[in-house]
Amino acid sequence: MERTAIFPGSFDPITLGHVEIIRRGLLLFDRIVVGIGINTQKVSMYPAAQRAAWLHTLFTNEPRVQVETFQGLTVHFARQQGAQFLLRGLRAAPDFEYEKNIDLLNQHLAENIQTVYLISSPPTAHISSTLVREVIRFHGNLQGLVPDFMIPEIYADSPASGA
Ligand code: ADP
Repeated sequence: MERTAIFPGSFDPITLGHVEIIRRGLLLFDRIVVGIGINTQKVSMYPAAQRAAWLHTLFTNEPRVQVETFQGLTVHFARQQGAQFLLRGLRAAPDFEYEKNIDLLNQHLAENIQTVYLISSPPTAHISSTLVREVIRFHGNLQGLVPDFMIPEIYADSPASGA
């Protein structure tokens, strides 16, 4: 049976931390569906269509990665996609605390869906979308934080200071 995992998140924007987890996830799963969660209560920096477009460009040569947007519960989205697994990344203790509660809830909601956690690799362990958005707001150097091709697009309207 094909092993399918959902990699859910906001990806606002996608970072090299996310890319790393997806690449390593491909060693475990036949297919990964990157699920861009749309939270109508939260204001995002980039519209879902832009977040999806960057993901599509990144994985254009990887047919095992699919990009979708979704609203509502992740386990419902997983069922709809025929996925048996959720893939998540763990950076540090706060991620664990947060993930533990979500995992317990998901076990309650869908006992046949298992969540698999990958500990982040040292070169990307410090990266979060929140920090990347902060760097973007202040026109900092994004190299090593997001895929290179995104940098000119992000700074198309306002060039990076390189600081
Ligand atoms: P963030 O937590 O950066 O705002 P998301 O909400 O989009 O990003 O997170 C989606 C998933 O990616 C989560 O499981 C999160 O822990 C994981 N993730 C994000 N950044 C990293 C990273 N640098 N290393 C490992 N996992 C990460």
